Amino acid sequence: MAEFTLELNDDQKQVRDWLHGFAAHVIRPAASEWDEREETPWPVIQEAAKVGIYSLDFYAQQFFDPTGLGIPMAMEELFWGDAGIALSIVGTGLAAVGVLANGTEEQIGTWIPQMYGDADDVKVAAFCSSEPDAGSDVASMRTRAVYDQAKDEWVLNGTKTWATNGGIANVHVVVAVVDPELGSKGHASFIVPPDTPGLSQGQKFKKHGIRASHTAEVVLEDVRVPGHCLLGGKEKLDQRLARAHERAASGGERVKNAAMATFEASRPAVGAMAVGTARAAYEVALDYAKTRTQFGRPIIDNQGIAFQLADMRTQIDAARLLVWRASWMATTGKPFTSAEGSMSKLYASETAKKVTAQAVQILGGNGFTREYPVERMHRDAAIYTIFEGTSEIQRLVIARTLSGMPIR
Ligand SMILES: Cc1cc2nc3c(=O)[nH]c(=O)nc-3n(C[C@H](O)[C@H](O)[C@H](O)COP(=O)(O)OP(=O)(O)OC[C@H]3O[C@@H](n4cnc5c(N)ncnc54)[C@H](O)[C@@H]3O)c2cc1C
Repeated sequence: MAEFTLELNDDQKQVRDWLHGFAAHVIRPAASEWDEREETPWPVIQEAAKVGIYSLDFYAQQFFDPTGLGIPMAMEELFWGDAGIALSIVGTGLAAVGVLANGTEEQIGTWIPQMYGDADDVKVAAFCSSEPDAGSDVASMRTRAVYDQAKDEWVLNGTKTWATNGGIANVHVVVAVVDPELGSKGHASFIVPPDTPGLSQGQKFKKHGIRASHTAEVVLEDVRVPGHCLLGGKEKLDQRLARAHERAASGGERVKNAAMATFEASRPAVGAMAVGTARAAYEVALDYAKTRTQFGRPIIDNQGIAFQLADMRTQIDAARLLVWRASWMATTGKPFTSAEGSMSKLYASETAKKVTAQAVQILGGNGFTREYPVERMHRDAAIYTIFEGTSEIQRLVIARTLSGMPIR
């Protein structure tokens, strides 16, 4: 088990510098164009695939880094480049994790390669859980999956929303209700293979930020998928449902709000994305404050500006420490007894929102224009307190964990 260390080893430094180079030379220069186009930056994803960044192998390597710092380091560097493009590069990972977490070895081997495609023909994947009436409250999910025993097929019906890569994905991972009596314990995940009839893209959202990342509704109308598309398989599902029914009958464990648990593993990674955006905006603001002259001196000569920059950097470093602690705990199997994963996401995402707003202020009128990147970073940062569990949900998780009380 790796001891906690803040010192990156030589391999980690090499990967960090390589990712930073890609973020600086490929992602950052393309950021403004794809933000304006509000389209998936396929050529950039392809570049990432060519050099090996857009692949399961790369993320698996970082994920299995025994120090736990591989994923947060990678996320921080890519999102430092640009949040919208970076989300287009890592969004497939969300669906891949869904398969890795619940799928059999055969399902992992079959579907994950189809999620990424290859450098000559890149593909993306989508993870579809949220619905119009089931955001934070995952237990309200309505999309239904019904088993057709005669054909060994599952039939999916419902509408998913906010799906990153929804409708343009080669492979969709869809969470659906298989047993409505069990609330969030009655959910299961399904692969919807490429070109399956009945799956279509609904509205594509025009967003405030991360506009290079495609977000859309996914409509499922009598979508039939083979039995082997149920992640984990039918036998495991039947056993799980039977256990949940037994517990419910004996008045045992309360069915928890799935929003509390579903995204637990990915929270520090989202925190790291927020640290990347915050650091990017801080660096632009620091440079600007040192070069912009008013009243015959650089604006950083004023404590009012210098102290803001001191606070920004302090908060970014504090956020990174929380993220690294949570990632190390997750990797080394330490229980999150104080909801440290949620703490890291809460603090880092709120920091990104605050720091990017301060960066806009420090750049004055220029900060308010699209000539300077902090305007985009400020818009992008707003997502971190919303997706993968809002800040309010993180606070709920932390407060419940600390108090042991069913706080609402
Ligand atoms: C750009 C983008 C990409 C996304 N990508 C994906 C994806 O790939 N796959 C996917 O499945 N989902 C995705 N989501 C969905 C995202 O996870 C949800 O938006 C999020 O969970 C919040 O749900 P909601 O939008 O329905 O807000 P709501 O749950 O309706 O919340 C609205 C407000 O009420 C607050 N609130 C709700 N409940 C409580 C409570 N109990 N106590 C206090 N406050 C509360 C919330 O914090 C929030 O401020 C994405 C969303 C966006 C915007």
